[in-house]
Amino acid sequence: LSRGGALLSMRVIRAVGEMRQLAEEIRSAGRRLALVPTMGWFHEGHLSLMREARRRADVVVVSVFVNPIQFGPREDYDRYPRDLERDRRLAEGVGVDVLFAPSVEEMYPRGYQTFVEVAELSRPLCGQARPGHFRGVATVVLKLFNIVRPHLAIFGQKDYQQLLIVRRMVEDLNLDVEVVGMPTVREPDGLAASSRNSYLSPAERRAALSIPRALQRAQRLYQEGTREARPLLKEVRRTIEAEDLTEIEYVRLCDPQTLQEVERVDRQALLALAVWVGTTRLIDHVILGGEGPCSG
Ligand code: AMP
Repeated sequence: LSRGGALLSMRVIRAVGEMRQLAEEIRSAGRRLALVPTMGWFHEGHLSLMREARRRADVVVVSVFVNPIQFGPREDYDRYPRDLERDRRLAEGVGVDVLFAPSVEEMYPRGYQTFVEVAELSRPLCGQARPGHFRGVATVVLKLFNIVRPHLAIFGQKDYQQLLIVRRMVEDLNLDVEVVGMPTVREPDGLAASSRNSYLSPAERRAALSIPRALQRAQRLYQEGTREARPLLKEVRRTIEAEDLTEIEYVRLCDPQTLQEVERVDRQALLALAVWVGTTRLIDHVILGGEGPCSG
């Protein structure tokens, strides 16, 4: 995997077979391989994961795959932003070695019928409104692990429930992959970076700021001594509902490990939410009482 001459070239691989073969060569050469799974349309959040992979491994593979089986029938699979040329430039800029961008037919050929389910953790929060979503996520992540055979895989804490589910799957299925969680990268005004932010009109973008504002207010209430779920959730709802273009899907206070709802913050709690801003669904969260179980 030499980057010969003056041409700083990153390899783009489309075929599963070719990716497997290259991964095998890298492994047998004794080099440490990191995978960053993504759906593309890179932003600073993705780039922070890639930079961490660059620091921790010899070879960095970034997958770009808009995974159809994690989208519901009325979700945004078709309109999800895609631009491999743009992603290629951005990934190359942070020193990624391989962009693995398989087609849907490569990943799910005719006759495909095997799925992974992380049962309990997939039910609450986003799992409630998006049945089958986390089954799709767990399945594609396991497939990517088997194709790329990474020593470590890097995920964002932004998708908190997803990270918990991937960790559970790795533990339950005895996978030999170190899972690293990275903090949420935010836009300068506080909105969590997301590929879906590109859907927002200027007015929606302003309304979306009520999300980080609401989480900050909850955090402040917590710091001032509030521990009960009710006033914390009420403040979050009030702040978000003050905007015309927003509609709350859920706001919950949960145990950060089990995701079961809690009535009060006991040591630590996850305050998680999903909010529709126009036709765009955004998620965000804050850990009250600490950094959460996912750092490092
Ligand atoms: P996606 O392309 O949205 O599936 O995200 C790919 C990876 O990037 C996942 O591990 C996400 O958790 C992570 N990610 C997405 N947004 C952010 C963010 N704002 N900060 C850090 N990581 C993120």
